[in-house]
Amino acid sequence: MNESKYIIKNASVFDGLGSDKFQADILIEDGIIKEIGNLENIDCKIIDIKGNAIAPGFIDVHSHDDIALIVYPEMDFKVMQGVTTVINGNCGNNVIPRHGTLERWQTRYPDNLIPEWNSYRDYIDLINSIKPSVNSAILIGHGSVRNGSGLKNQQRLPNQNEYDEMKGWIREGMEAGAVGFSTGLIYEPGRYSSTEEIIELTKVISPYDGVYSSHMRNEGNNLLLSIEETIKIGQGAETSIEISHHKVSGKDNWGLSEKSTGMINDARDMGIN
Ligand SMILES: [Zn+2]
Repeated sequence: MNESKYIIKNASVFDGLGSDKFQADILIEDGIIKEIGNLENIDCKIIDIKGNAIAPGFIDVHSHDDIALIVYPEMDFKVMQGVTTVINGNCGNNVIPRHGTLERWQTRYPDNLIPEWNSYRDYIDLINSIKPSVNSAILIGHGSVRNGSGLKNQQRLPNQNEYDEMKGWIREGMEAGAVGFSTGLIYEPGRYSSTEEIIELTKVISPYDGVYSSHMRNEGNNLLLSIEETIKIGQGAETSIEISHHKVSGKDNWGLSEKSTGMINDARDMGIN
């Protein structure tokens, strides 16, 4: 029997296009879905999933798997949750430039020598050569480029050279195929940056249609100010915006999400993506 041809029988199909679920069989040949419907009398292997759900792979838009792709290429902890694509480099944390971030990772994997890379292009080529079992895309991390520049973890704004250095990394990343720029303004070194610094750097990704993704400066008493800052950055840099793990922390702030989501909706109505 042709093993590369099989039918997944009795599936509850969620097609990912917004339709209601429906019962169907799925014919797969050489890794490609050939037919969905009530399939009878086809001579091939049959896998009866007895009404279990089947859906397109999930995209995990908030991952920190930058090194996991190298250390655990099978990525079983994601695949077993149905995730087939991960977006890495969130919260200002990526692994380029290598000297900007890697010490932290290396302490977690002391026996596992992590390969060298000098650019986003190198890193992406490395991941492509490893062929992890999930697809991946990367965001350029503000904290990593800031730490990798002459600024390191200093509590001050960048000088012109440091701006140029950071913009150089960001440009190289977008040219290599990164999908956007992330910040972690609640963490070091992101917390030492000003709104203007982030606008200035985020402008670099605008011509590439990159997304600005932020773990905001504050998720408690100053949540609304942080939403305002994030929207201001997207407007100033002319990019789309993603707020990472939007939440309200602290009992005193319970209910503030009505205002914060209202601000997000207002910004959308004004044409901000
Ligand atoms: Zn975060």
